[in-house]
Amino acid sequence: MTTPTATLDAGLPDGRLLIAGDWRSGTGAELESINPFDGSLNRTFAGASPDDVDEAVTRGREAMDEPAWRDLLPHERARYLHRVADHIEDRVDRIAAIQTADTGKTLTETAALARSAAGTFRYFAAVLEVAEDTLTPRRGDFLTMSVHEPLGVIAAITPWNSPIASDAQKVAPALAAGNAVVLKPASWAPLVALELAAIVDAAGLPAGLFSVLPGSGRETGEAIIEHPLVRRISFTGGTTTGRHIADVAARRLIPTSLELGGKSPTVVFADADVDQAIAGVLFGIFSSQGQSCIAGSRLFVETSMHDEFVERLAAATDDLVLGDPTVPGVQLGPLVHFDHRLDVERYIAAGVDEGGRVVSGGARPTGPPFDAGAFLSPTILTGVDNASAVCQEEIFGPVLVTLPFDDEDDLVAQANDSVYGLAAGIWTADYRRAWRVARRIDAGTVWINTYKQFSISTPFGGTKDSGWGREKGVAGIRQYQHQKSLYWGMDPSPHAWAAPHRGDGDGPSRPEGTREGRTS
Ligand code: NAD
Repeated sequence: MTTPTATLDAGLPDGRLLIAGDWRSGTGAELESINPFDGSLNRTFAGASPDDVDEAVTRGREAMDEPAWRDLLPHERARYLHRVADHIEDRVDRIAAIQTADTGKTLTETAALARSAAGTFRYFAAVLEVAEDTLTPRRGDFLTMSVHEPLGVIAAITPWNSPIASDAQKVAPALAAGNAVVLKPASWAPLVALELAAIVDAAGLPAGLFSVLPGSGRETGEAIIEHPLVRRISFTGGTTTGRHIADVAARRLIPTSLELGGKSPTVVFADADVDQAIAGVLFGIFSSQGQSCIAGSRLFVETSMHDEFVERLAAATDDLVLGDPTVPGVQLGPLVHFDHRLDVERYIAAGVDEGGRVVSGGARPTGPPFDAGAFLSPTILTGVDNASAVCQEEIFGPVLVTLPFDDEDDLVAQANDSVYGLAAGIWTADYRRAWRVARRIDAGTVWINTYKQFSISTPFGGTKDSGWGREKGVAGIRQYQHQKSLYWGMDPSPHAWAAPHRGDGDGPSRPEGTREGRTS
């Protein structure tokens, strides 16, 4: 193993990239990381160019073929993952501060994301101890085995909204499976991925096995997904980008997993515990400033209680605390970027144009510290049609639409009238109804009397335009491996087919499953 080439120092990452085992400036286009709390500049630095990508991927392939990584036993490889987790846990505060500066998320949230990333590395270290190759049933004088092998260089491409957690969800299983990884973070939030690079490097993994290549999708991302040595693309991001990545992967005949957008329904039945439902709906849509793929952004409330529930929800929304994301008790910081706020505001205006009524928020908060940052008040729109853009398109911001429903059939029809199928939430006291509705809603995850809770041991992913493939869970490691079948001959005699002349025609007939019998 190599010795670390980067020290875990204090402050924001200095903007050098980890490319092919070296820490150096990228040779691609300039990137700017802005703190959306006050618009100040965190860092400008050069991203990875196509040449940098080529170097990183080529070196990654060599590094994974070296005995130092290739021949490690599973528990030895697990040790490296535990070491990465140790470093993350030692540096939770620093990672949280970097991510908050980059994204405007509250420190409480970014610290939780850092801890969850450490948990992900530990989980896949544990998976290595139990992921078995199998001996398949015998069908003749041979033994058959199915073993799992790494694929090659994995491209991990991630969005800006939960960087270290979504990075770890790809990097940990891909490394555990024996691959090399190139990670491309989003341009708006590149810094925490550079911190992860320093951590992986300090954990002593072979030089070049892991590279971090920030840059734009058009320059850096394209160079990665088109690189002939990249053997799998693990993508999390928007549906439009995901569709393009699926096109490229289909042409190149390489596997992908696509964790894409959502427009998740949250359903409140009249028998729900209203206080619990209100708290759950608020958390489901407005935590992370609504910038969450699984945000419960369409609220369906049983008609008999819709108006009363929405009135209480609006009052609770008005009471949410916006402010400096580094201050304890603040529930919403700014949006990730000033440009993103403009996009979200356009949706609110479109919702009003389509007949919607704003019952909470709808505008930027004013006065210090809000004037300097990318703040937007959490917003509830009611009176909109389920066919309208605000009900059908992913806004990815703090905007909730509310819709009444009459009965289960009406609810399921409206909830499933969406191109997306990522998540859903159900609030009811009737577990039989929860069971029925949960099974009928198109979603990869359904929360019942809870929302936005996660477990690394539970598979996660979407259906319909929310993507394909599943991350997490014991099987999460398998998407980074291919299966190889081994046949071990146990019959010591020469193959009868090759010596047909030797017998007199009265030789013993061979049963099915022997070397000349049927074997399938
Ligand atoms: P995005 O699709 O714009 O970008 C995602 C990543 O893809 C970025 O790193 C970007 O640079 C890269 N990229 C863009 N074009 C590329 C190209 N041509 N080739 C290669 N890479 C390219 O998404 P975003 O705005 O960063 O993130 C928000 C989206 O992510 C939302 O739609 C959200 O729902 C989705 N998301 C999904 C999940 C999930 O698990 N389903 C989780 C988080 C976010």
